[in-house]
Amino acid sequence: MQYISTRGKAAQTVASSAILQGLAPDGGLYCPDNFPALSSDKLINVAKMPYAQRSAEILGLFLPDFTSEELQNAAEIAYANFPIPVTALDDKISILELWHGPTCAFKDIALQILPNLMSLSAKKHADNRTFHILVATSGDTGKAALEGFRDRDGFSVLVFYPKDGVSNTQKLQMSTQLGDNVCVCAINGNFDDAQTGVKNIFSDKEVAETLAKNNIVLSSANSINLGRLLPQVAYYVSAYCDMVTNGKLSVGQKLDITVPTGNFGNILAAYYAKSIGLPLGRLVCASNSNNVLTDFLSTGVYDCRRKLHLTTSPSMDILVSSNFERALFHLSNDDAELVSDLMQKLDTDGIYTAPPALKQAFDNVFTGGWCGEEKAAEIVKTAWNENKVLLDPHTAVAVAVARENLTDNPMLVVSTASAYKFTEAVCPALNIKGDTVEALETYTGQTAPEPLKNLGSKAVRFTDTAERTEMKEWMLKQLLG
Ligand SMILES: *Cc1c(COP(=O)(O)O)cnc(C)c1O
Repeated sequence: MQYISTRGKAAQTVASSAILQGLAPDGGLYCPDNFPALSSDKLINVAKMPYAQRSAEILGLFLPDFTSEELQNAAEIAYANFPIPVTALDDKISILELWHGPTCAFKDIALQILPNLMSLSAKKHADNRTFHILVATSGDTGKAALEGFRDRDGFSVLVFYPKDGVSNTQKLQMSTQLGDNVCVCAINGNFDDAQTGVKNIFSDKEVAETLAKNNIVLSSANSINLGRLLPQVAYYVSAYCDMVTNGKLSVGQKLDITVPTGNFGNILAAYYAKSIGLPLGRLVCASNSNNVLTDFLSTGVYDCRRKLHLTTSPSMDILVSSNFERALFHLSNDDAELVSDLMQKLDTDGIYTAPPALKQAFDNVFTGGWCGEEKAAEIVKTAWNENKVLLDPHTAVAVAVARENLTDNPMLVVSTASAYKFTEAVCPALNIKGDTVEALETYTGQTAPEPLKNLGSKAVRFTDTAERTEMKEWMLKQLLG
């Protein structure tokens, strides 16, 4: 299997090289040139395995240049203490809990294994440079990248976050991060400023030359990297297996899925699972009031000429969904010319219209829906009061949209974060006095996940704030002294 760029101007390449590169040289995203097949015999076989082995099997379908021993080792290290269970919300909706990893958000699933996949890839290409992972984050990716790459040979990590744009818990999680190869810096600006600053550093030739003299190369751990996307395919297969084992599904029966969506990485992984043959029905794309994707899926017009709303589900406050480009590519039968044209229009005009055949292809697979702030808070409240299930605001958005899109198939809602990570939103929704982790614990009688407990008493290691115009200088000073 080869990997090809959505823009069609870069040479095809093997998976390990695509993982090392992140973005393709023509500005496109790497995609598999065809989808491998998951037979029903293989599915039944995979159902007997623990999660790490399931993950290695599914990754093996997409990564033929890795040995099964390499993948098995990488998955065992990543998922040794990382349960990924399916639970019930009510008799219609099951929940896939993806947040039992070290940072309590679903980004851990990919970022716990990505460093290992990158090390293996570097070895295969005899590349002995130090990879400096540069991240702009709105909260969850930064912490998950720090935790994934900490003290790992051959890597260093720098995370920029918007000073006032992350939750208190997220800020503390990052500023108290351990590890000798990590650092964190706040930016005087919003997430877009941080993201733009990072993009500028990536395209700065002088920076690249200076770093090259020191045997350092910049690299990215954001969700356009294939190594972020492919590990996510495995949990859809795993959830299906668990639901068969628990009697909620029979083998071959269709399962509908609702995903709280931002950059379209998580739901794209569900599309990949469906494309290899997992019996999935509708893929429901849930948005908050930044409902660009809902509008696209109903009209075929992608229009980001609108104001970004800051919501209680900040990881979905996105107008340009980076992985959507991959969906356009696959659903247009790999029409790189069309994708390049649409992306060009988005860049210059902020809007494009899908041709009718492409719109039809989306209609065959995806449904869109969105949920506003009040409704999301109400869902948090009723899920707790009626089902004793504690939802974070992102998952609450998905549950609201799932309820409006139930069919005869069972419905699985993907839960992307622990509610204890977003107490500023969850506590008011439950009418709790105070909005701390402890206040929420007292109210629910539960214990918060270990990594979120006593964050306030951990030593703060990173306190710097940089102006958005000084990010490059700040990074070079850190790296080269
Ligand atoms: C990143 C994130 C999302 C959005 O996922 P995408 O893959 O970008 O669509 C949703 N919820 C939470 C909690 C997240 O951290």
